[in-house]
Amino acid sequence: MVRIQVSEHRLINIRRSSLCDNCSLHNCTSFIDSRVIECLDFKPVFSVFLKCRECGKIYDPYRSLRSLDYELCPECNHSVNNSPSITFVCRE
Ligand SMILES: [Zn+2]
Repeated sequence: MVRIQVSEHRLINIRRSSLCDNCSLHNCTSFIDSRVIECLDFKPVFSVFLKCRECGKIYDPYRSLRSLDYELCPECNHSVNNSPSITFVCRE
């Protein structure tokens, strides 16, 4: 579970296990016991939009289940994941 501060007095909790855990639809047919990470009918409990720290794009943090850094949009998270953050230097 991730806790994100969206305004001065509001925090939201995002469950990272499945999109369905954060969805307000109750009679949803897409609800299955496996991990759902994308859903067209997804309706978050709160409407929350964050601005990406890197590119300024507005994104929905509920749809960024796989993100490691919730201050970044899914695309910027993706580019962070592609570039190695730790570089090993081998010297004899
Ligand atoms: Zn971004």
